[in-house]
Amino acid sequence: MQSAMITMKASGGKATRNSTGRLKYHVKTFGCQFNYSDSERVASLLEEIGYAPTENEVEADFIILNTCAIRQKAEDRVYGLFPHFQELKQKNSRLKIGITGCMVRKSSSKVSRKKDRIVKNYEEIDITFRINELQKLPDLLRELDPELDLNEAADEFDAGTLQNYFKINPKYSNTVQAFVPIAYGCDKFCAFCIVPFSRGREKSRLMQEILDECEQLVARGCKEITLLGQTVDSYGLSFDDRATKRFAPLKKGEKIYFTRLLEELDRMKFRGLKRVRWTSPHPKDMTDDLIEAVARLETQMPYIHLPIQSGSTAMLKRMNRPYTRERYLDRIAKIREHIPDCAISTDIIVGFCGETEEMFEDTLSLYEEIRWDMAFIAQYSMRKFTAAHRTMKDDVPSKIKQKRWHELNEILKQCSREGHERFVGKTVEVLVERVLEDGRLEGRSEHYKRTQFKGTEKMIGELVQIKVEEAGDWYLTGAVI
Ligand code: SF4
Repeated sequence: MQSAMITMKASGGKATRNSTGRLKYHVKTFGCQFNYSDSERVASLLEEIGYAPTENEVEADFIILNTCAIRQKAEDRVYGLFPHFQELKQKNSRLKIGITGCMVRKSSSKVSRKKDRIVKNYEEIDITFRINELQKLPDLLRELDPELDLNEAADEFDAGTLQNYFKINPKYSNTVQAFVPIAYGCDKFCAFCIVPFSRGREKSRLMQEILDECEQLVARGCKEITLLGQTVDSYGLSFDDRATKRFAPLKKGEKIYFTRLLEELDRMKFRGLKRVRWTSPHPKDMTDDLIEAVARLETQMPYIHLPIQSGSTAMLKRMNRPYTRERYLDRIAKIREHIPDCAISTDIIVGFCGETEEMFEDTLSLYEEIRWDMAFIAQYSMRKFTAAHRTMKDDVPSKIKQKRWHELNEILKQCSREGHERFVGKTVEVLVERVLEDGRLEGRSEHYKRTQFKGTEKMIGELVQIKVEEAGDWYLTGAVI
């Protein structure tokens, strides 16, 4: 697709040329890596149809919020910005505000017949679009302003399918470390989670399409690829994947599709790919062949993030998580058997509906037993549309949620420090990511440990050997060797 300068016709409140002659967009991203990856596709589409990026929202003609709805707090953060947008709109009558991501139910504009509830209820918001309907964005912009003269590329996007969404080349914000989505949506329907409702049912991307995108990245110097999916290890195994026959059913004893994808990607090591990471797997789908592949493949790193959510089998059942505490322990044992020094992290929710002291004690004791390197611990908040919202009561008082959260965080801190201490005196390989405020550099080691050291800016994007001198609660400190 070509990119051309956009021509805007001047009219009161309509999009028009700004002082530089180009329309400008500004994207604000909230939430997980998936959203950051989606924002790269939003940026790419807007640039294809003629918009230019700006870091300064005051000069933007279109501001897009890519939202997270995993917890009420995340939504509140977005709603909290609305008065600010109203002020910006008073100063700039051209400004349009769009919302995408997990808060959006329908793609619509202020003038659509069927509007999303956000467009309906908040006058500051002009457009909502479901991220897997990103191709509709040019039409929605035109719906809002029929005089908007987008360039020809805009006509190439139609109200297409998810496959088209994946075909939009992202504008990678970092070409040394890139995110590549391999599936979209989720079939698991955990009782607390809004994702199956906001992103829809799980659909996997064709393997060749993923490999092509990765090939292109590697040809451009990419050293680390992170594969993204709500449950990466169920890649190719969703209801939709079976129904559309795009992936054949697995025969007994066959490796899962995700393992095969990792094996294919591993061949790219000969062309410069150093690391392949992925997030997040589901304990139910974590097979032996996947763990063995992580141990065996050169581009796989000794780090696995495996969400548990609760250490109580009874609570896991309430959460509609189809595995037991024992199954999870079995997976950890398998990981440690094949990758003895593997760093392991997890997600935990405290205070889910009906969580008793005993259930929480099970989570505490599991933490003591496994001693995860890191855990992302959340206090439960009820989300509309979920099974918990329909059938359960958010009955754990917030004081108890906070208390449980603090207790777990105390253990997390100890375990995180222990996880760092085992590297003191050793050499780790770090992919340098950024300059810190104090001028030192920071990157991640093979075990995904944040590592800080003195160096020069030109090291960013390079793999460097660091002798670890000190372990902190949350990061390692060392020196280049
Ligand atoms: S596996 Fe559960 S928590 Fe994860 S995205 Fe799917 S429904 Fe949500």
